[in-house]
Amino acid sequence: MMKIDVLTLFPEMFSGVFGHSILHKAAEKSAVQYNVVNFRDYADNKHQSVDDYPYGGGAGMVLKPQPIFDAVEDLTKQAEAANTRVILLCPQGERYNQRKAEELSKEEHLIFICGHYEGYDERIRGHIITDEISIGDYVLTGGELGAMVVIDSVVRLLPEVLGNEESHMKDSFSTGLLEHPHYTRPADFRGLKVPEVLLSGNHKLIEEWRNKESLRRTLARRPDLLEKMELTKDQEKWLYEIKKEDK
Ligand code: SAM
Repeated sequence: MMKIDVLTLFPEMFSGVFGHSILHKAAEKSAVQYNVVNFRDYADNKHQSVDDYPYGGGAGMVLKPQPIFDAVEDLTKQAEAANTRVILLCPQGERYNQRKAEELSKEEHLIFICGHYEGYDERIRGHIITDEISIGDYVLTGGELGAMVVIDSVVRLLPEVLGNEESHMKDSFSTGLLEHPHYTRPADFRGLKVPEVLLSGNHKLIEEWRNKESLRRTLARRPDLLEKMELTKDQEKWLYEIKKEDK
């Protein structure tokens, strides 16, 4: 079972996300155990303060190293895992993607550190962190939403969490491409028709259509993904056809 510890100043924010839908079911199935910790509880000063003014002056407050160091050391000891990944949410970190989600989903123990205020004391970054993750090139008020995004994308990859119907194997990015379009009933909605092939019952043709549309979509929206991929012979043929069709 994967153990996930979250260090935050706002633990209540996580009850909605961990208490519903697939993330909740994952915990019920014992695929994951969540532990949300207010790192203020680890502050060793009288007022339990976790931040202070920046040396050198300037705007904003900086998270002190002591509560976070102590919390990470304690949670690492408690987990008794062979390996612990300590993940700092940070707009300056490595940009998050599906590959990273897959990598993290193989771990036994993850600790997420959600920042607030202006930033962290640099000694946190330099000494107890194994990964720094940014969820995109914009600045949030705190790391909580970022941690939720990362945890959601990791937990759904754990064995037994998604049923067959929700399988992630063909999701966008898992295959290296964006996923093909989907349709459901009715076959004709206000004159907008479902592609004939999907109604044909011919599984081979349907699979081929999906593979080709996945390529078409990736070429139109994220051509950068194609540049990183080694295409199969079929994919090369379909890509050639798509380029001719969409001229
Ligand atoms: N002053 C910092 C900077 O310029 O890099 C930004 C601090 S931000 C207001 C407060 C906290 O929100 C950060 O410490 C981090 O935990 C979180 N955060 C903000 N943007 C984020 C992003 N794009 N990805 C992940 N976490 C983010």
